[in-house]
Amino acid sequence: MTTAPRELNDAELLRYSRHILLDEIGIEGQQKLAASTALIIGAGGLGAPATLYLAAAGVGRLVIVDHDTVELSNLQRQIVHDASRLGVPKAESARDTLAAINPLIEVIPVVARADDALLAQWVPQADVVLDCSDNFPTRHAVNRACVTARAPLVSGAAVRFDGQLTTFDSRDNATPCYHCLFPDEGDASDGPCATFGVFAPLTGIIGCAQAAEALKVLIGLGETLVGRLQLLDGKTLRWKELRYKKDPRCPVCGEQHGA
Ligand SMILES: [Zn+2]
Repeated sequence: MTTAPRELNDAELLRYSRHILLDEIGIEGQQKLAASTALIIGAGGLGAPATLYLAAAGVGRLVIVDHDTVELSNLQRQIVHDASRLGVPKAESARDTLAAINPLIEVIPVVARADDALLAQWVPQADVVLDCSDNFPTRHAVNRACVTARAPLVSGAAVRFDGQLTTFDSRDNATPCYHCLFPDEGDASDGPCATFGVFAPLTGIIGCAQAAEALKVLIGLGETLVGRLQLLDGKTLRWKELRYKKDPRCPVCGEQHGA
């Protein structure tokens, strides 16, 4: 979806002045953000920091999809929630936190699983999609919906001490999709976070980097991570970059797909 920039009022010009001072963003870039919709799949460890920065930075409309409720064990890393929200749907808890930080944007909580039908409804309305989910079936479903709608997808993952980050952009048919990179669809069991530990600030680092990528995509700023997978070792804080290519026989984005 391409949205026309919109004028900023005085409160917005002041609130976003440190962005506007950047030549690479300026008023034009900030206007693009104000007119943009970001769809965030998951309001957990990655979605929490990602939505905090997207909201603070002035993305005009955030749609947050999560079917889960806030549990005590989430608060170790899911910093958009707090102890007063135990038992509250995560999407609604996130909405309340974000509204308190930035009442000038619209936050739409969607308390539901990100299944094919839901994604078919929301992905075409998004200018950028952030996959902040924690399981392979959802990741593949989000990827299929983004390829179909030609929506840019910023993908992050954080398990134990290992972080991953990359971007897919189906607006350009020649670029790879998530399935090109991870062809194994996995099984439908619970996400890794349900069974494995996760180093709290690792989710913050990856989630913040997803927000940075999403802002870059929306503004058209710098160079995105299309075709480049970033791997972070949380124990050494060393990043590694792996290049990857489109699989011409990919069942999702390849030639047989009929795009
Ligand atoms: Zn593909």
